[in-house]
Amino acid sequence: MAKTGGLGDVSGSLPKELARLGHDVTVFMPYYRQAREYFAAQGIEPEPVIPTTWIGWAAWTADVTFLRTVLPGSDVPLILVANDYYFDREQIYTSLDPIDAVQRYAVFCRAVIAGCEILGIQPDVLHAHDWHTALLPVYLHSGLQASTSFRSTRSVYTIHNLAYQGVAGSAAFNVLGLHSRYWSSDGLEHFGQVNLMKGGIIFADQVTTVSPNYAREVQTPAHGAGLDGVLRAVAYKFTGILNGIDIEEWDPASDPHLPSHYEAYDLRGKAAIKKALAGDAELKYDSKTPLIGVVSRLVEQKGFQLLLPILGKLLKAGAQAVILGSGDRAYEEGFMQVAEHHPETCRVWLGFDNALAHLMYGGCDLLLMPSMYEPCGLNQMYSLRYGTLPVVRLTGGLADTVIPYDGTNEELANGFGFTAPSSEELYFATWIGMLSYKEAKLWKKLQRNGMAADFSWARSARHYEEVYARAVT
Ligand code: ADP
Repeated sequence: MAKTGGLGDVSGSLPKELARLGHDVTVFMPYYRQAREYFAAQGIEPEPVIPTTWIGWAAWTADVTFLRTVLPGSDVPLILVANDYYFDREQIYTSLDPIDAVQRYAVFCRAVIAGCEILGIQPDVLHAHDWHTALLPVYLHSGLQASTSFRSTRSVYTIHNLAYQGVAGSAAFNVLGLHSRYWSSDGLEHFGQVNLMKGGIIFADQVTTVSPNYAREVQTPAHGAGLDGVLRAVAYKFTGILNGIDIEEWDPASDPHLPSHYEAYDLRGKAAIKKALAGDAELKYDSKTPLIGVVSRLVEQKGFQLLLPILGKLLKAGAQAVILGSGDRAYEEGFMQVAEHHPETCRVWLGFDNALAHLMYGGCDLLLMPSMYEPCGLNQMYSLRYGTLPVVRLTGGLADTVIPYDGTNEELANGFGFTAPSSEELYFATWIGMLSYKEAKLWKKLQRNGMAADFSWARSARHYEEVYARAVT
Protein backbone atom coordinates (compact mmCIF):
# COMPACT_ATOMS: atom_id res chain seq x y z
CA MET A 1 0.00 0.00 0.00
CA ALA A 2 0.98 3.62 -0.35
CA LYS A 3 1.61 4.52 3.25
CA THR A 4 3.57 7.25 4.95
CA GLY A 5 2.24 7.03 8.47
CA GLY A 6 -0.81 6.68 10.64
CA LEU A 7 -3.21 7.65 7.85
CA GLY A 8 -2.05 4.66 5.81
CA ASP A 9 -2.70 2.39 8.81
CA VAL A 10 -6.20 3.69 9.38
CA SER A 11 -7.32 3.56 5.79
CA GLY A 12 -5.97 0.02 5.53
CA SER A 13 -7.34 -1.41 8.78
CA LEU A 14 -10.61 0.38 9.51
CA PRO A 15 -12.42 -0.65 6.29
CA LYS A 16 -11.58 -4.30 6.91
CA GLU A 17 -13.02 -4.17 10.42
CA LEU A 18 -16.11 -2.34 9.21
CA ALA A 19 -16.63 -5.01 6.57
CA ARG A 20 -16.25 -7.66 9.28
CA LEU A 21 -19.01 -5.89 11.20
CA GLY A 22 -21.25 -6.34 8.16
CA HIS A 23 -20.96 -2.95 6.46
CA ASP A 24 -20.70 -2.54 2.72
CA VAL A 25 -17.42 -0.59 2.34
CA THR A 26 -15.61 0.70 -0.74
CA VAL A 27 -12.24 2.46 -0.45
CA PHE A 28 -11.08 5.08 -2.98
CA MET A 29 -7.41 5.94 -3.22
CA PRO A 30 -5.25 7.80 -5.74
CA TYR A 31 -3.26 5.36 -7.86
CA TYR A 32 0.09 6.62 -6.57
CA ARG A 33 3.26 5.31 -8.14
CA GLN A 34 3.98 3.57 -4.82
CA ALA A 35 0.65 1.74 -5.00
CA ARG A 36 1.38 0.75 -8.59
CA GLU A 37 4.76 -0.64 -7.54
CA TYR A 38 3.21 -2.44 -4.58
CA PHE A 39 0.62 -4.21 -6.72
CA ALA A 40 3.16 -4.98 -9.45
CA ALA A 41 5.44 -6.60 -6.85
CA GLN A 42 2.52 -8.78 -5.73
CA GLY A 43 1.82 -9.74 -9.33
CA ILE A 44 -1.57 -8.01 -9.14
CA GLU A 45 -2.82 -5.99 -12.08
CA PRO A 46 -5.84 -3.88 -11.09
CA GLU A 47 -8.44 -3.92 -13.89
CA PRO A 48 -9.91 -0.73 -15.37
CA VAL A 49 -13.62 -0.71 -14.50
CA ILE A 50 -14.70 1.50 -17.37
CA PRO A 51 -12.80 3.26 -20.16
CA THR A 52 -10.94 6.43 -19.22
CA THR A 53 -13.44 9.17 -18.38
CA TRP A 54 -13.27 12.94 -18.51
CA ILE A 55 -14.48 14.58 -15.36
CA GLY A 56 -15.13 18.30 -15.34
CA TRP A 57 -16.08 21.05 -12.96
CA ALA A 58 -16.07 24.82 -13.28
CA ALA A 59 -13.38 25.51 -15.91
CA TRP A 60 -11.47 22.31 -15.15
CA THR A 61 -11.32 18.86 -16.65
CA ALA A 62 -9.14 15.84 -16.03
CA ASP A 63 -9.04 12.35 -17.45
CA VAL A 64 -9.30 9.58 -14.89
CA THR A 65 -9.23 5.84 -15.06
CA PHE A 66 -10.90 3.85 -12.31
CA LEU A 67 -9.24 0.54 -11.57
CA ARG A 68 -10.70 -2.08 -9.32
CA THR A 69 -8.93 -4.42 -6.91
CA VAL A 70 -9.27 -5.30 -3.21
CA LEU A 71 -7.56 -4.03 -0.08
CA PRO A 72 -4.60 -6.38 0.46
CA GLY A 73 -5.53 -9.29 2.70
CA SER A 74 -9.28 -8.75 2.41
CA ASP A 75 -12.15 -8.69 -0.05
CA VAL A 76 -12.96 -5.02 0.55
CA PRO A 77 -13.27 -3.32 -2.87
CA LEU A 78 -10.56 -0.76 -3.55
CA ILE A 79 -11.05 1.69 -6.39
CA LEU A 80 -7.80 3.26 -7.58
CA VAL A 81 -8.11 6.64 -9.23
CA ALA A 82 -5.46 6.90 -11.92
CA ASN A 83 -4.22 10.06 -13.57
CA ASP A 84 -0.53 9.90 -14.40
CA TYR A 85 0.11 13.61 -14.25
CA TYR A 86 -1.29 14.04 -10.76
CA PHE A 87 -0.53 10.74 -9.05
CA ASP A 88 2.31 8.96 -10.80
CA ARG A 89 5.00 10.93 -9.00
CA GLU A 90 8.16 10.09 -7.14
CA GLN A 91 6.82 11.21 -3.77
CA ILE A 92 3.32 10.64 -2.49
CA TYR A 93 2.66 14.07 -1.01
CA THR A 94 5.39 16.50 -2.02
CA SER A 95 3.92 18.86 -4.60
CA LEU A 96 5.36 21.35 -7.02
CA ASP A 97 3.58 24.20 -5.25
CA PRO A 98 0.54 24.70 -2.99
CA ILE A 99 -1.81 25.28 -5.94
CA ASP A 100 -0.63 22.05 -7.54
CA ALA A 101 -1.29 20.26 -4.22
CA VAL A 102 -4.83 21.64 -4.08
CA GLN A 103 -5.39 20.72 -7.71
CA ARG A 104 -4.28 17.12 -7.19
CA TYR A 105 -6.74 16.53 -4.41
CA ALA A 106 -9.54 18.52 -6.02
CA VAL A 107 -9.15 16.10 -8.94
CA PHE A 108 -9.18 13.14 -6.57
CA CYS A 109 -12.29 14.31 -4.69
CA ARG A 110 -14.15 15.09 -7.91
CA ALA A 111 -13.13 11.68 -9.19
CA VAL A 112 -14.51 9.96 -6.07
CA ILE A 113 -17.84 11.67 -6.68
CA ALA A 114 -17.86 10.80 -10.37
CA GLY A 115 -16.74 7.26 -9.52
CA CYS A 116 -19.67 6.70 -7.15
CA GLU A 117 -22.09 7.98 -9.80
CA ILE A 118 -20.62 5.92 -12.61
CA LEU A 119 -20.32 2.75 -10.55
CA GLY A 120 -23.77 3.13 -8.99
CA ILE A 121 -22.47 3.44 -5.42
CA GLN A 122 -24.96 5.22 -3.13
CA PRO A 123 -23.11 5.73 0.14
CA ASP A 124 -24.89 6.36 3.43
CA VAL A 125 -21.63 7.80 4.73
CA LEU A 126 -18.65 9.30 2.96
CA HIS A 127 -15.67 9.13 5.33
CA ALA A 128 -12.84 11.51 4.38
CA HIS A 129 -9.38 11.74 5.97
CA ASP A 130 -6.99 14.66 6.51
CA TRP A 131 -6.63 17.73 4.31
CA HIS A 132 -6.30 15.72 1.11
CA THR A 133 -9.93 14.69 1.06
CA ALA A 134 -11.37 17.57 3.09
CA LEU A 135 -13.12 18.77 -0.08
CA LEU A 136 -15.45 15.77 -0.10
CA PRO A 137 -17.70 17.04 2.73
CA VAL A 138 -17.56 20.49 1.11
CA TYR A 139 -18.64 19.22 -2.32
CA LEU A 140 -21.35 17.13 -0.68
CA HIS A 141 -22.63 20.22 1.09
CA SER A 142 -22.50 22.29 -2.08
CA GLY A 143 -25.39 20.54 -3.78
CA LEU A 144 -24.69 16.92 -4.58
CA GLN A 145 -27.99 15.97 -2.96
CA ALA A 146 -29.44 16.40 -6.44
CA SER A 147 -27.42 13.37 -7.61
CA THR A 148 -29.07 9.97 -7.14
CA SER A 149 -25.82 8.65 -5.71
CA PHE A 150 -25.72 11.16 -2.88
CA ARG A 151 -29.36 11.89 -2.12
CA SER A 152 -29.07 10.66 1.46
CA THR A 153 -25.29 10.68 1.97
CA ARG A 154 -23.79 12.12 5.14
CA SER A 155 -20.13 12.88 5.72
CA VAL A 156 -17.57 12.12 8.41
CA TYR A 157 -14.21 13.85 8.44
CA THR A 158 -11.17 12.58 10.38
CA ILE A 159 -8.14 14.66 11.34
CA HIS A 160 -4.97 12.61 11.72
CA ASN A 161 -2.56 15.49 12.16
CA LEU A 162 -3.63 19.08 12.57
CA ALA A 163 -0.19 20.28 11.52
CA TYR A 164 -0.99 19.72 7.82
CA GLN A 165 -4.07 21.66 6.76
CA GLY A 166 -3.83 22.02 2.98
CA VAL A 167 -3.18 25.75 2.86
CA ALA A 168 -2.66 27.74 -0.36
CA GLY A 169 -2.98 31.31 -1.58
CA SER A 170 -6.42 32.69 -2.42
CA ALA A 171 -5.90 31.97 -6.15
CA ALA A 172 -6.27 28.26 -5.32
CA PHE A 173 -9.96 28.84 -4.60
CA ASN A 174 -10.61 29.11 -8.35
CA VAL A 175 -9.41 25.55 -8.78
CA LEU A 176 -12.10 24.18 -6.50
CA GLY A 177 -15.14 25.05 -8.58
CA LEU A 178 -17.12 26.18 -5.55
CA HIS A 179 -19.65 29.00 -5.33
CA SER A 180 -18.14 32.24 -4.02
CA ARG A 181 -20.20 31.90 -0.85
CA TYR A 182 -17.65 29.25 0.25
CA TRP A 183 -14.99 31.96 0.17
CA SER A 184 -15.70 33.38 3.62
CA SER A 185 -14.47 32.96 7.16
CA ASP A 186 -17.40 30.55 7.67
CA GLY A 187 -16.09 28.54 4.73
CA LEU A 188 -12.69 27.72 3.29
CA GLU A 189 -11.12 31.12 3.77
CA HIS A 190 -8.76 31.38 6.73
CA PHE A 191 -6.96 34.67 7.20
CA GLY A 192 -6.94 35.36 3.45
CA GLN A 193 -5.83 31.88 2.41
CA VAL A 194 -7.53 28.71 1.27
CA ASN A 195 -7.61 26.17 4.10
CA LEU A 196 -9.02 22.82 3.00
CA MET A 197 -9.03 21.24 6.44
CA LYS A 198 -11.17 24.08 7.74
CA GLY A 199 -13.71 23.28 5.03
CA GLY A 200 -13.76 19.62 6.02
CA ILE A 201 -14.31 20.52 9.66
CA ILE A 202 -17.10 23.00 8.99
CA PHE A 203 -19.09 21.08 6.38
CA ALA A 204 -18.80 17.47 7.57
CA ASP A 205 -21.74 16.09 9.54
CA GLN A 206 -19.36 14.55 12.10
CA VAL A 207 -15.68 15.28 12.76
CA THR A 208 -13.26 12.99 14.54
CA THR A 209 -9.61 12.87 15.45
CA VAL A 210 -7.41 9.99 16.55
CA SER A 211 -7.67 10.12 20.34
CA PRO A 212 -10.15 11.61 22.84
CA ASN A 213 -7.47 13.61 24.62
CA TYR A 214 -6.06 15.08 21.38
CA ALA A 215 -9.66 16.09 20.55
CA ARG A 216 -9.73 18.12 23.76
CA GLU A 217 -6.23 19.55 23.31
CA VAL A 218 -6.74 20.82 19.76
CA GLN A 219 -9.60 22.99 20.98
CA THR A 220 -7.04 25.10 22.89
CA PRO A 221 -4.85 27.80 21.33
CA ALA A 222 -1.69 25.98 22.42
CA HIS A 223 -2.48 22.88 20.34
CA GLY A 224 -5.04 24.06 17.80
CA ALA A 225 -2.58 25.15 15.06
CA GLY A 226 -4.81 28.15 14.32
CA LEU A 227 -7.98 26.06 13.98
CA ASP A 228 -8.83 25.78 17.69
CA GLY A 229 -11.61 28.37 17.37
CA VAL A 230 -13.17 26.45 14.48
CA LEU A 231 -12.89 23.20 16.43
CA ARG A 232 -14.49 24.74 19.52
CA ALA A 233 -17.34 25.96 17.35
CA VAL A 234 -18.01 22.41 16.12
CA ALA A 235 -17.47 20.74 19.52
CA TYR A 236 -21.06 19.38 19.32
CA LYS A 237 -20.07 17.12 16.40
CA PHE A 238 -16.40 16.52 17.24
CA THR A 239 -15.05 13.40 19.01
CA GLY A 240 -11.79 11.50 19.44
CA ILE A 241 -11.45 7.82 18.61
CA LEU A 242 -8.22 6.03 19.42
CA ASN A 243 -6.54 4.28 16.50
CA GLY A 244 -6.13 0.55 16.80
CA ILE A 245 -3.05 -1.59 16.20
CA ASP A 246 -2.72 -4.73 14.14
CA ILE A 247 -2.97 -7.22 17.01
CA GLU A 248 -1.98 -10.13 14.78
CA GLU A 249 1.24 -8.54 13.57
CA TRP A 250 2.01 -7.28 17.07
CA ASP A 251 1.52 -10.33 19.25
CA PRO A 252 4.21 -11.48 21.70
CA ALA A 253 2.68 -14.96 21.66
CA SER A 254 3.45 -15.49 17.97
CA ASP A 255 5.69 -12.66 16.68
CA PRO A 256 8.10 -14.29 14.18
CA HIS A 257 10.73 -11.62 14.93
CA LEU A 258 11.08 -12.84 18.53
CA PRO A 259 13.37 -15.70 19.56
CA SER A 260 10.84 -16.83 22.18
CA HIS A 261 7.22 -16.10 23.01
CA TYR A 262 5.11 -15.19 25.99
CA GLU A 263 1.65 -14.19 27.17
CA ALA A 264 0.26 -12.10 30.00
CA TYR A 265 -0.17 -15.08 32.35
CA ASP A 266 3.23 -16.58 31.52
CA LEU A 267 5.87 -13.95 30.97
CA ARG A 268 8.89 -16.25 31.21
CA GLY A 269 9.70 -16.03 27.49
CA LYS A 270 10.47 -12.31 27.77
CA ALA A 271 13.85 -12.89 29.48
CA ALA A 272 15.27 -14.75 26.46
CA ILE A 273 14.29 -11.83 24.22
CA LYS A 274 16.01 -9.35 26.50
CA LYS A 275 19.07 -11.59 26.39
CA ALA A 276 19.02 -11.68 22.57
CA LEU A 277 18.56 -7.92 22.39
CA ALA A 278 21.41 -7.29 24.84
CA GLY A 279 23.54 -9.60 22.69
CA ASP A 280 22.73 -7.64 19.53
CA ALA A 281 23.47 -4.40 21.37
CA GLU A 282 26.73 -5.78 22.74
CA LEU A 283 25.58 -4.98 26.26
CA LYS A 284 25.92 -7.29 29.25
CA TYR A 285 22.67 -9.11 29.94
CA ASP A 286 21.53 -8.63 33.51
CA SER A 287 18.02 -9.56 34.57
CA LYS A 288 18.26 -7.08 37.49
CA THR A 289 19.16 -4.07 35.34
CA PRO A 290 16.24 -2.24 33.72
CA LEU A 291 16.71 -1.96 29.96
CA ILE A 292 15.27 1.26 28.55
CA GLY A 293 14.30 1.52 24.87
CA VAL A 294 13.51 4.21 22.31
CA VAL A 295 12.03 3.35 18.88
CA SER A 296 11.17 6.54 17.11
CA ARG A 297 11.72 9.22 14.57
CA LEU A 298 14.35 11.41 16.22
CA VAL A 299 12.60 14.76 15.85
CA GLU A 300 11.56 17.57 18.13
CA GLN A 301 7.90 16.45 18.18
CA LYS A 302 9.00 13.30 19.98
CA GLY A 303 10.63 15.27 22.82
CA PHE A 304 14.21 14.04 22.59
CA GLN A 305 15.49 17.44 23.63
CA LEU A 306 14.22 16.39 27.09
CA LEU A 307 16.00 13.03 27.04
CA LEU A 308 19.41 13.99 25.68
CA PRO A 309 20.59 15.99 28.72
CA ILE A 310 19.61 13.26 31.22
CA LEU A 311 20.32 10.02 29.39
CA GLY A 312 23.84 9.79 30.86
CA LYS A 313 22.42 10.35 34.33
CA LEU A 314 19.87 7.56 33.88
CA LEU A 315 22.66 5.21 32.82
CA LYS A 316 24.70 6.17 35.89
CA ALA A 317 21.62 5.59 38.05
CA GLY A 318 21.67 1.95 36.97
CA ALA A 319 19.88 1.62 33.63
CA GLN A 320 20.91 0.28 30.25
CA ALA A 321 19.55 1.92 27.10
CA VAL A 322 19.02 0.92 23.48
CA ILE A 323 17.94 3.53 20.95
CA LEU A 324 16.66 2.89 17.43
CA GLY A 325 15.75 5.84 15.26
CA SER A 326 16.64 8.34 12.63
CA GLY A 327 15.81 11.94 12.02
CA ASP A 328 17.43 15.25 12.91
CA ARG A 329 21.20 15.19 12.86
CA ALA A 330 21.50 16.97 16.19
CA TYR A 331 19.65 14.15 17.95
CA GLU A 332 21.39 11.41 16.01
CA GLU A 333 24.81 12.82 16.90
CA GLY A 334 23.78 13.62 20.47
CA PHE A 335 22.68 10.05 21.16
CA MET A 336 25.76 8.63 19.43
CA GLN A 337 27.93 10.74 21.72
CA VAL A 338 26.16 9.47 24.83
CA ALA A 339 26.70 5.91 23.59
CA GLU A 340 30.39 6.61 23.01
CA HIS A 341 30.72 7.83 26.59
CA HIS A 342 28.80 4.85 27.97
CA PRO A 343 29.72 1.90 25.73
CA GLU A 344 28.98 -0.58 28.54
CA THR A 345 25.40 0.53 29.03
CA CYS A 346 24.13 2.29 25.91
CA ARG A 347 23.73 1.34 22.26
CA VAL A 348 22.36 3.49 19.44
CA TRP A 349 21.24 2.23 16.02
CA LEU A 350 20.58 4.91 13.42
CA GLY A 351 18.11 3.83 10.75
CA PHE A 352 14.74 2.17 10.29
CA ASP A 353 14.56 -1.52 11.15
CA ASN A 354 11.18 -3.17 11.64
CA ALA A 355 12.56 -6.52 12.85
CA LEU A 356 14.75 -4.81 15.42
CA ALA A 357 11.79 -2.68 16.53
CA HIS A 358 9.85 -5.89 17.28
CA LEU A 359 12.81 -7.27 19.22
CA MET A 360 13.01 -4.05 21.22
CA TYR A 361 9.31 -3.97 22.13
CA GLY A 362 9.77 -7.57 23.29
CA GLY A 363 13.15 -7.26 25.00
CA CYS A 364 13.12 -3.87 26.73
CA ASP A 365 11.66 -3.25 30.18
CA LEU A 366 10.79 0.42 29.73
CA LEU A 367 10.04 2.40 26.54
CA LEU A 368 10.43 6.18 26.53
CA MET A 369 8.07 8.55 24.67
CA PRO A 370 8.52 12.09 25.99
CA SER A 371 6.52 13.58 23.08
CA MET A 372 5.71 17.28 22.83
CA TYR A 373 2.44 16.35 21.12
CA GLU A 374 1.09 13.01 19.95
CA PRO A 375 -2.26 12.76 18.12
CA CYS A 376 -2.51 9.05 18.95
CA GLY A 377 0.87 7.30 19.06
CA LEU A 378 1.40 3.65 18.23
CA ASN A 379 4.63 2.80 20.02
CA GLN A 380 3.10 2.95 23.48
CA MET A 381 0.36 0.55 22.38
CA TYR A 382 2.86 -1.93 20.94
CA SER A 383 4.96 -1.66 24.06
CA LEU A 384 1.98 -2.16 26.39
CA ARG A 385 0.98 -5.23 24.41
CA TYR A 386 4.52 -6.60 24.82
CA GLY A 387 4.63 -6.06 28.59
CA THR A 388 7.22 -3.30 28.18
CA LEU A 389 6.13 -0.42 30.38
CA PRO A 390 5.98 2.98 28.67
CA VAL A 391 7.28 6.18 30.23
CA VAL A 392 5.37 8.94 28.48
CA ARG A 393 4.62 12.61 28.57
CA LEU A 394 0.88 12.65 29.22
CA THR A 395 -0.21 14.39 26.03
CA GLY A 396 -2.61 13.46 23.19
CA GLY A 397 -3.23 9.75 22.79
CA LEU A 398 -0.48 8.91 25.28
CA ALA A 399 -2.72 10.20 28.08
CA ASP A 400 -5.58 8.02 26.80
CA THR A 401 -3.57 4.80 26.77
CA VAL A 402 -1.04 5.02 29.60
CA ILE A 403 -2.20 5.02 33.22
CA PRO A 404 0.81 6.19 35.22
CA TYR A 405 1.73 4.37 38.40
CA ASP A 406 1.43 6.73 41.37
CA GLY A 407 2.41 4.43 44.22
CA THR A 408 -1.18 3.44 45.05
CA ASN A 409 -2.92 2.39 41.82
CA GLU A 410 -1.24 -0.91 40.95
CA GLU A 411 -4.66 -2.40 40.16
CA LEU A 412 -4.95 -0.12 37.12
CA ALA A 413 -1.58 1.41 36.25
CA ASN A 414 0.32 0.23 33.17
CA GLY A 415 3.25 2.66 32.88
CA PHE A 416 4.78 5.91 34.06
CA GLY A 417 4.00 9.49 33.11
CA PHE A 418 4.77 13.16 33.56
CA THR A 419 3.18 16.36 32.30
CA ALA A 420 5.54 19.36 32.19
CA PRO A 421 7.90 19.23 29.18
CA SER A 422 11.03 19.18 31.33
CA SER A 423 14.06 16.90 31.58
CA GLU A 424 13.66 16.78 35.38
CA GLU A 425 10.12 15.39 35.13
CA LEU A 426 11.16 12.87 32.50
CA TYR A 427 14.06 11.81 34.71
CA PHE A 428 11.83 11.43 37.75
CA ALA A 429 9.18 9.39 35.90
CA THR A 430 11.83 7.09 34.41
CA TRP A 431 13.51 6.72 37.78
CA ILE A 432 10.17 5.67 39.36
CA GLY A 433 9.97 3.14 36.54
CA MET A 434 13.46 1.84 37.33
CA LEU A 435 12.63 1.50 41.03
CA SER A 436 9.36 -0.28 40.25
CA TYR A 437 11.24 -2.72 38.04
CA LYS A 438 13.09 -3.96 41.13
CA GLU A 439 9.77 -4.94 42.73
CA ALA A 440 9.02 -8.14 40.88
CA LYS A 441 5.42 -8.57 42.05
CA LEU A 442 4.41 -4.99 41.35
CA TRP A 443 6.18 -5.07 37.98
CA LYS A 444 4.36 -8.19 36.85
CA LYS A 445 1.04 -6.65 37.85
CA LEU A 446 1.75 -3.48 35.84
CA GLN A 447 2.85 -5.57 32.85
CA ARG A 448 -0.35 -7.62 32.98
CA ASN A 449 -2.49 -4.49 33.25
CA GLY A 450 -0.89 -3.21 30.04
CA MET A 451 -1.17 -6.50 28.22
CA ALA A 452 -4.87 -6.80 29.10
CA ALA A 453 -5.84 -3.60 27.26
CA ASP A 454 -7.82 -3.94 24.03
CA PHE A 455 -6.18 -1.83 21.31
CA SER A 456 -7.70 -3.79 18.43
CA TRP A 457 -9.13 -2.15 15.33
CA ALA A 458 -12.34 -4.04 16.12
CA ARG A 459 -12.73 -1.82 19.17
CA SER A 460 -12.03 1.39 17.21
CA ALA A 461 -14.40 0.34 14.43
CA ARG A 462 -17.28 0.03 16.90
CA HIS A 463 -16.68 3.64 17.93
CA TYR A 464 -16.67 4.74 14.28
CA GLU A 465 -19.98 2.91 13.85
CA GLU A 466 -21.43 5.16 16.56
CA VAL A 467 -20.15 8.24 14.76
CA TYR A 468 -21.63 7.06 11.45
CA ALA A 469 -24.94 6.48 13.22
CA ARG A 470 -24.86 10.04 14.58
CA ALA A 471 -24.03 11.37 11.11
CA VAL A 472 -27.05 9.76 9.46
CA THR A 473 -29.57 10.73 12.12
P1 ADP B 1 4.78 8.73 14.16
O1 ADP B 1 3.80 8.21 13.15
O2 ADP B 1 4.52 10.13 14.61
O3 ADP B 1 6.23 8.54 13.77
P2 ADP B 1 3.74 6.64 15.85
O4 ADP B 1 4.03 6.25 17.27
O5 ADP B 1 2.31 6.89 15.52
O6 ADP B 1 4.64 7.88 15.50
O7 ADP B 1 4.25 5.49 14.88
C1 ADP B 1 5.60 5.23 14.69
C2 ADP B 1 5.74 3.88 14.06
O8 ADP B 1 7.00 3.80 13.39
C3 ADP B 1 5.76 2.74 15.04
O9 ADP B 1 5.21 1.63 14.41
C4 ADP B 1 7.25 2.52 15.32
O10 ADP B 1 7.51 1.23 15.76
C5 ADP B 1 7.82 2.78 13.96
N1 ADP B 1 9.20 3.28 13.96
C6 ADP B 1 9.61 4.54 14.19
N2 ADP B 1 10.95 4.64 14.04
C7 ADP B 1 11.39 3.42 13.71
C8 ADP B 1 12.70 2.88 13.39
N3 ADP B 1 13.78 3.63 13.41
N4 ADP B 1 12.78 1.58 13.07
C9 ADP B 1 11.66 0.81 13.06
N5 ADP B 1 10.42 1.25 13.33
C10 ADP B 1 10.28 2.55 13.65
